[in-house]
Amino acid sequence: MARIVMKFGGTSVADLDRIRNVAARVKAQIALGDEVAVVVSAMAGTTNQLVAWCQSLSPLHDAREYDVVVSTGEQVTAGLTAIALQAIGVEARSFCGWQIPVSTDGQHGKARINAIDGADLSRRMGQGQVVVVAGFQGIGPDERVTTLGRGGSDTSAVALAAALNADRCDIYTDVDGIYTTDPRIVPNARKLARITYEEMLELASVGAKVLQTRSVELAMKERVRVQVLSSFSDEPGTMVVDEDEVLEQEIVAGIAYSRDEAKITVRKVPDKPGIAAAIFVPLAEANINVDMIVQNVAEDGTTDMTFTVGKGDFPRAMAVLEAARAHIGYAEISADQNVAKLSVVGVGMRSHAGVAGTMFHTLAARGINIQVISTSEIKVSVLVAAEYTELAVRALHTAYQLDA
Ligand code: ASP
Ligand code: MG
Repeated sequence: MARIVMKFGGTSVADLDRIRNVAARVKAQIALGDEVAVVVSAMAGTTNQLVAWCQSLSPLHDAREYDVVVSTGEQVTAGLTAIALQAIGVEARSFCGWQIPVSTDGQHGKARINAIDGADLSRRMGQGQVVVVAGFQGIGPDERVTTLGRGGSDTSAVALAAALNADRCDIYTDVDGIYTTDPRIVPNARKLARITYEEMLELASVGAKVLQTRSVELAMKERVRVQVLSSFSDEPGTMVVDEDEVLEQEIVAGIAYSRDEAKITVRKVPDKPGIAAAIFVPLAEANINVDMIVQNVAEDGTTDMTFTVGKGDFPRAMAVLEAARAHIGYAEISADQNVAKLSVVGVGMRSHAGVAGTMFHTLAARGINIQVISTSEIKVSVLVAAEYTELAVRALHTAYQLDA
């Protein structure tokens, strides 16, 4: 007997037939003798609609009222799922965040969970009841409904699994697991049986958007075993686990790409102490995340500084740099939004040399120029012209022997 949290995303509860399918899956899990808590998202498209309604009435709406509106999608699916379970003879009850309670901080629209009281849910599960929890929502210190930010029901599920001391948190989504790369680019990408938390975090941060990044951070911190799988098939999914659970670690787990970044070069800044601070502190103060950074060697007492920011932040970043022009003292700025970041990720890099070399050599052999490089302990990223994205991802996938 195990205790399982089963989380169903928007596509898995998109209509009544799919909700019936979810109920049948839960019933099958119960039949194995397991205790089950269910966490649901809103029906696919619902949250977008609710957000749009708030924005149409007032672009600068009250975030507390926004939460009242957008949290309703999950309340609907929690109730419907409980009804569907009861209809096939499974004892079930729905819970909104405030009823448990799921206590969050007061940042309406992007609240963080502080604590979940799992005692009552635990007792009910022990008596054979399925508890169905509305994801994405909680209650703030002001006693008002909060939501956790888009995609937040993954985080609800992981936090609940931690609070209930669950053996596993199964996240049912519209993909059947984590792949070595995007199967739309590389049709013979392989589904991974296991991936480590750290690899999953790196992949999530470079564009493989299967789980909300915060949910992976939380799973890693609380040591929650997460499985990503599809509610439309019976195939086993991908387990996200601790590093020492992976016995034969491949050196590279996957290749990710992102076209969400823009490159900025600040030319001919004085090469003296404080120049990096003069550039990056104003960007940080404007809440703009800088990703890759390179500083060139200085000639004639000046240097060039190249870095990347998210495309969404690009116009603001240019405005901030323009405003700080006199203070920084640069000659000119050039920018390029036609770039892609390619990343090779794997914990095996810690103990194996040559991963970066293989990447550079593979790209060189295709005539692809590398514009910026950055590395972490388990990741090598390069920036290239966007038009080479597909070619580069395919070549790297083959070079690291990831093809099925
Ligand atoms: N329904 C919310 C959203 O669309 C939360 C979630 O699905 O995870 O962002
Ligand atoms: Mg989601």
